Amino acid sequence: FMSNLNATHDKNLKSWVETANHKQSEFPIQNLPFGIFKLIGSEDIGQACIGIGDQIVVLERLLQHSILIGKAKVAALKSRGGVLNPLMELGQDYWSDLRKQVSNFLKFDSKTASHSDVLIPIADVEMCMPAQIGDYTDFYSSINHATNVGKLFRPDNPLLPNYKHIPIAYHGRSSSIRVSGYPTRRPIGQIKNADAVEPVLGACNKLDYETELGVFVGPGNNLGEIITIDQVDEHIFGCCILNDWSARDIQAWEYQPLGPFLAKNFATTISPWIITNEALIPYRCKSHTRPSSDPEPLSYLNSPTHEKLGGLDINFEVAIRTEKMRKENISAQIIGKPPFQDMYWTIYQMLTHHTINGCNLRPGDFYGSGTISGSQKNQLGSLLEVTEGGKTDIVFSSGENRKFLEDGDEVIMKAWCGDDNNDDIVKIGFGECRSIIISALEL
Ligand code: CA
Repeated sequence: FMSNLNATHDKNLKSWVETANHKQSEFPIQNLPFGIFKLIGSEDIGQACIGIGDQIVVLERLLQHSILIGKAKVAALKSRGGVLNPLMELGQDYWSDLRKQVSNFLKFDSKTASHSDVLIPIADVEMCMPAQIGDYTDFYSSINHATNVGKLFRPDNPLLPNYKHIPIAYHGRSSSIRVSGYPTRRPIGQIKNADAVEPVLGACNKLDYETELGVFVGPGNNLGEIITIDQVDEHIFGCCILNDWSARDIQAWEYQPLGPFLAKNFATTISPWIITNEALIPYRCKSHTRPSSDPEPLSYLNSPTHEKLGGLDINFEVAIRTEKMRKENISAQIIGKPPFQDMYWTIYQMLTHHTINGCNLRPGDFYGSGTISGSQKNQLGSLLEVTEGGKTDIVFSSGENRKFLEDGDEVIMKAWCGDDNNDDIVKIGFGECRSIIISALEL
């Protein structure tokens, strides 16, 4: 289990990139998130980079200056080609050496004037999909979310009997995953309203978001092999923010008996920066403490190390900004602040469970945690829960109200570890996952 802190996590480490040292910076030198960028408007294939302050470090230019050696150099060479999958395949020794050498290059006393061209301002680039995602699975790991949603359908029996024994998931669709900023088109589908006899084809009227953590798989496993709970660490490359767009009216009609289909696969949005598993080490915590009345997980889903360090203390925030709010210069309104620490199943349990039948995961495969919801009213990760299925309204400072999303609404998700009021731990950010709803196609 990769639980050891190293020099790259030192909270006193500063960078010669001044903006990385600002207290509000999402990308201090302790973060070093990976991404793929293009110059704005460029038709070129994307290039690998690492975020630092308000700049990116271009890995190709580090290679040109012969700054990287050994495994870090191999890792950077593998990052050519516009996607990070080959880097993900290399494994932890390579990722870790690259992180260490980039950290050494960026730290305060290391600047050499001739190397300033390795940086480009983030403002001058557009971030691309960081990997070609082969397969995508979405879990359902928040017991608060599962209970809240279950209550809408089964008030007396919200949680199904398998929930506390098995991490529940469905196979999602990777072809419709887009990076932050790409607009999301309202889907069309079969909808059967409660009072109608027959379904009709129409634009979704109950469009929703789901606030989730996304996880990128590293080397993965061969078909027929199992990744055990204590091996999972070597197989997680890193994490991002995920918005699992959901058409609640289409979902309600189609989901039985085989689960989500067209209500989910029309669009998924992710944040472009991958926060590496190594960068997240300082924010690991105890996995969810089950009340004594809950069953213990089966032994393949736990280990002493996992119990101690399987949790992740990540703060999420989801906000909406309507078209009117943008026109009137009103800032986005925060709808929920879900805490990842409350998740019933950990990202390690999800991955080991995924392989327990021998299912193979490949480099760049991706899985979502499921909607993150805390136990409090202001910690909910979907509108379905906030408005109790459309029974209540959200009122905006612009005077508008919503049960579900309308065209022109922008959903903005953020995530970070650490907090402003605790100087003992560095705050690192995930960047943003945002997208504006555009109207459905004409029928
Ligand atoms: Ca979901």
